[in-house]
Amino acid sequence: MKKGLTMHDAHRTDAPVIDVSGLSMAYGSRVVLREIDLQVARGEVIALLGPNGAGKTTTIEILEGLRKPTAGTVRVLGVDPLHADLHHRARVGVVLQSWRDHARWRVREFLHHLFVLHAPFLDDDPSWTVDALLERVGLAEHHRARIGSLSGGQRRRLDVAVGLVGRPELLFLDEPTVGFDPHARREFHELMHELADSRATTILLTTHDLTEAERLADRILILDGGRISADGSADELAREVAGATEVRWRIGRDRFVHASDDATAFVRELLAREPEATELEVRRSTLEDTYLAMVARSESTATEGASQ
Ligand code: ADP
Repeated sequence: MKKGLTMHDAHRTDAPVIDVSGLSMAYGSRVVLREIDLQVARGEVIALLGPNGAGKTTTIEILEGLRKPTAGTVRVLGVDPLHADLHHRARVGVVLQSWRDHARWRVREFLHHLFVLHAPFLDDDPSWTVDALLERVGLAEHHRARIGSLSGGQRRRLDVAVGLVGRPELLFLDEPTVGFDPHARREFHELMHELADSRATTILLTTHDLTEAERLADRILILDGGRISADGSADELAREVAGATEVRWRIGRDRFVHASDDATAFVRELLAREPEATELEVRRSTLEDTYLAMVARSESTATEGASQ
């Protein structure tokens, strides 16, 4: 331990923010998660992807302490979320898939109420105000609107604002950008980058949008068949799928295509060898290609397993 650091500080900086081992979950006889192990470090932004019904929401709900797993150990900021106290809950921001209450409240009034509830847990930062938050989520001009009158995208931004009120160290977002228009989506991405970069907020989000996962996340987890079938950066996942990068070119009237693991080296060598090559095109496989290949691969393994 470094000199001058207390046990508490050391714990805050080094320990994983999320530490899960052997996590299993079944609803009756339907097994949704099978012995999942997962560690998330401080400041990481993680996207949880997977087909519908893969167990993304279930995983997030267990981490939030809203659901009791069937088996396994779960630690979030060092404690079991099922038995977390108010102080712990204040350190965690939660954006559920959607909530439909409070329609008659006005936007600013509602957030102000939440600020008051969080006040005992907030550090003294004069820049952290209701209005600053409204500005950040792009709702400043709707501050007097009744919640029930907001559009889907505005409503979702309010959900995000609710999750941010306590300036959480850890933020859970379940499908945060459903219903956002492209402009709101870009602003939301900027906000997430800012939180991750300047405040080292750890963020775990689920999304159906692969481009969003690629843009936001340091690390992507694909949940499939009850297990984490892939875990890595978008680049790492792409490299795992054979022939990740496609190089195309033309020589005279002939067209060529080559799949390469190291496209830079290949292109360098190609141009040295074939200086007359034209229309050079390098296409990295997108996260979507990778995702579809991985889900197809895990489905075929499951079918093989079932037929044995
Ligand atoms: P995802 O978020 O990846 O779409 P979910 O975690 O919502 O997946 O659901 C995983 C599986 O668990 C689905 O088959 C769903 O029908 C089932 N499930 C989710 N919640 C419940 C529940 N409260 N009771 C019974 N089954 C549930």
